[in-house]
Amino acid sequence: MSNSQESSVGAEWCLEHSYSELPTLFHQKAMPVAVKDPRLVVFNHRFAERLGLAMDPPVKVFAGNELPAGARPIAQAYAGHQFGHFTTLGDGRAILLGEQLAPDGRRWDIQLKGAGRTAFSRGGDGRAALGPMLREYIISEAMHGLGIPTTRSLAVVATGEDVRRQDILPGAVLTRVASSHIRVGTFEWAAANRDQSALRALADYTIRRHFPALATLENPYQFLLGAVVGRQAALVAQWQCVGFIHGVMNTDNMAISGETIDYGPCAFMDGYDPATVFSSIDHRGRYAYGNQPRIAQWNLARLAEALLPLLHEDEEKAIEVGTLQIESFGDLFEREWLGRMRAKLGLFAEEAGDRALIEALLEWMRESRADFTHTFRELSRSETARILLESQQDWQQQWHARLGRQEQSLAEAEALMLASNPACIPRNYRVEEALAAASDMGDLSVMEELLEVLGNPYDVRWDDSEYRLPPAPGAGVYQTFCGT
Ligand code: AMP
Ligand code: MG
Repeated sequence: MSNSQESSVGAEWCLEHSYSELPTLFHQKAMPVAVKDPRLVVFNHRFAERLGLAMDPPVKVFAGNELPAGARPIAQAYAGHQFGHFTTLGDGRAILLGEQLAPDGRRWDIQLKGAGRTAFSRGGDGRAALGPMLREYIISEAMHGLGIPTTRSLAVVATGEDVRRQDILPGAVLTRVASSHIRVGTFEWAAANRDQSALRALADYTIRRHFPALATLENPYQFLLGAVVGRQAALVAQWQCVGFIHGVMNTDNMAISGETIDYGPCAFMDGYDPATVFSSIDHRGRYAYGNQPRIAQWNLARLAEALLPLLHEDEEKAIEVGTLQIESFGDLFEREWLGRMRAKLGLFAEEAGDRALIEALLEWMRESRADFTHTFRELSRSETARILLESQQDWQQQWHARLGRQEQSLAEAEALMLASNPACIPRNYRVEEALAAASDMGDLSVMEELLEVLGNPYDVRWDDSEYRLPPAPGAGVYQTFCGT
């Protein structure tokens, strides 16, 4: 590892290290381990510009072979509940180079995922395989395109080294960018260490970084909890409305910022069924589509428990305060979800019967295994909606009556629907196709074209394109794998 100015010619690295000022409980020094033969696979020029990093991509930096100017690499410590069981973790293969201050004043963690072993690697090799890193790149950028808060992907570099998994696979490093990597599990780590001053330092830091308006309040911690509950309710409602299944909603994979994080076994649902699970290890369906809101609330309850000592000096009162915030999740989620589902049906304002109208549609979709994305997009256009709803005359009449009762025109309703129902999502078979072309044949054009589509998923340009198509009937059941 060397600190080189060369690689950063034209680059405007502006790295700060506020996280490193937290107590040492939360981080350890960690040096990226240089790789044999780094080769840039993909670079997010548009996002780089936003970060103030418009430049010839410094491949050695994104490989971990060279540090950018001002880097002070660390691995973050955290704990977490994995499939319901508490465990201590930490970044076993991700190294934070620092926080890039963008020209607009925003602060972004720059993290190399797959950059080598750290103090938290346990038995792992600290590395990542090319396929899963490209998959994270595609899906995280697709989430961004859909308007859903998410960590971003800046670059993927192939390492020229093999990684051993089930098979031997080509290795890669992903540069992940996030508004922070503070997790529910970071708070659980402080609580598990029974270190109240560290816990307070983390909470104060989180408030300064993500919720500065709370800083002046008398007891800001219950409002911190409430704010995180609000962001997660909004986030998971957005997932539900595009059929996104995270797949591994462990508390260490839940970001306090409200960004979607950790794209391991995630996937988008095709045919509508709340029981849908893609992850090969989720035997009991804990993280099934329909369970996501409940699991988010369960995770937030773990956050509340970790925060208890800060909520009130009297434990009983602290539990009361925490419970109140956790219970607010239900209403917050319902409001977000209903609001977005209304928009998906072209409805601007509230009416009492809306929930029943939405549920009747979903029930029909479930019975007929209708494709979630395709159905809503077809509803967005009057000519295709009529055909789709041929067999659902009653529902269609109710919906039309409902649309007729609002002051907005049908054209306005249709515009709202087109902006709320994506034409394209990262369909599993499409993503697989792009990854196969990239890894087996070294052909990146399939992925690049897919990224272009997914960057503007609501665009009517795609309505008549093959990118909209659900998988062919009879296509095999899709499965995702952990241990990436
Ligand atoms: P994840 O399932 O991606 O959330 O990872 C859970 C934990 O396992 C995290 O602490 C990761 O850093 C760690 N981990 C995953 N893969 C590896 C690896 N290849 N080497 C070391 N640690 C890993
Ligand atoms: Mg994780």
